[in-house]
Amino acid sequence: MRTFTMTVDGVAVGSPTTFDVIDPSDETVLASAPECTDEQLDDAVAAAHGAFPAWAATPFAQRQAALIAMADVVDANADELHRLVTAEQGKPLAMAAAEVAGLSHWLRATAALTLPETVNEDGADRLSTTRRVPLGVVAAITPWNYPLGQLSFKLGPALLAGNTVVLKPSDLAPLSALRLGTLLAGVLPAGVLNVVSGTGDLGARITAHRGVDQISFTGSTRTGRAVMANAAARLTPVTLELGGNDPAIVLPDVDVAAVAEALFWAAFANSGQICLAAKRVYVHADVYPEFRDALVAYAATVRTGDPTQEGVGLGPVSNRRQYEAVLDLLKDSEDHGHTVLTGGSPMGRKGFFVEPTIVDDPPEDARIVQEEQFGPVLPLLVYREVDDVVARANAGDLGLGASVWSADPVAARAIGDRLDAGTVWINEVMHLSPLVPFAGRKQSGVGAESGLEGLLAFTSPRTTTVKR
Ligand code: NDP
Repeated sequence: MRTFTMTVDGVAVGSPTTFDVIDPSDETVLASAPECTDEQLDDAVAAAHGAFPAWAATPFAQRQAALIAMADVVDANADELHRLVTAEQGKPLAMAAAEVAGLSHWLRATAALTLPETVNEDGADRLSTTRRVPLGVVAAITPWNYPLGQLSFKLGPALLAGNTVVLKPSDLAPLSALRLGTLLAGVLPAGVLNVVSGTGDLGARITAHRGVDQISFTGSTRTGRAVMANAAARLTPVTLELGGNDPAIVLPDVDVAAVAEALFWAAFANSGQICLAAKRVYVHADVYPEFRDALVAYAATVRTGDPTQEGVGLGPVSNRRQYEAVLDLLKDSEDHGHTVLTGGSPMGRKGFFVEPTIVDDPPEDARIVQEEQFGPVLPLLVYREVDDVVARANAGDLGLGASVWSADPVAARAIGDRLDAGTVWINEVMHLSPLVPFAGRKQSGVGAESGLEGLLAFTSPRTTTVKR
């Protein structure tokens, strides 16, 4: 069985103990990954710390070139990397290929960003300017749903700004990130990017580490709170991209078949394991029956199964922990007598497969509506008045994304402007760009990723004044 290695100070390192990584489509052991020891974590942080002065002093254009070189490495190894993503995470191969291509695209587009220098005052008395300087060692902590895609928002911007990085992927899907670390050691100076893996408290050990200067975390809201608590001890700056329970609001004038198909994928792509997936779909009563039937009919055309097979649209849930969470939610719906339109149960085969499940207008206070499902489960809800649907969409502690669907984009925009979310889409969903900031409101996050704001998050302002 293959054992992957971490990257510390440019060198591939194993560990005295390892843990197994499971293929979610058949529950076999895929490979093993190192359990990072305390000493190895110290080494990784020390390597990042040691590499920081030279990397921060490297001319900006050279760091831009380094991001392009990283993208070239990703492209040259895209085939191996996307197969690893499918194997460890379970998304269909075509989707994994798009994830890898996205990482390369993000690196290239990020390389074109520049850090602003502001002249605050240029007068007879003084010249005052503000530049953006890197923070030091960034701890990048990512979840399992996009093991490489999640790196897009962190690696390029952190490195371009002049920081060095210690990356910790999820222990549930660490292989592609470990492999990427090995590959990138060929194009980055030693210590600039370190990749470590481990189970248990490794994330907590990193966020509490005295050598970490910024924490860029993506994961659940619950863990986000733990990260912020650890960061508080040293006032370490944090960027937190957390959970979402995104509403989609369908107006009565839509092309029902087209929007039903678009919203099927908005809710079920990657088996619903996307922070920005549509997790509650509110449909106007005038078109609800027609929309419900179109959505269920479309669901019947999508194949769930082995993600390496041609023609499969949905793979398994990514890991046992999430599989059990999804089954628990389905059990709650069953216990409360909700009407399941399609799906509703595991597929009765090896692997963490759950049939795509659509629940017919459950009560607003049902767990399936109030909680982020993060799985192939969608509540479809009826509304009659815009004020009512806006209030329901805005209730709750999360505010990541939202979407409004209508033949009249101006009317949809007017509703969208009332939604309390970091990103509101009209007639599409989940479109992200390396040039556009992405941020959650309320308990969906702190700070922004991507775009200029995402780059600035890895810097602090340094002002210089020259007295004349
Ligand atoms: P978790 O919060 O469980 O884990 C995220 C990462 O944090 C993993 O690498 C995990 O390691 C690590 N971790 C666990 N405990 C700690 C700790 N105490 N301190 C520091 N790090 C820790 O989330 P999931 O992996 O389950 O991901 C699903 C969640 O992520 C969903 O809620 C989803 O909405 C959210 N998410 C948000 C996105 C966004 O951009 N807003 C995008 C994608 C997902 P390990 O796995 O090894 O325990």
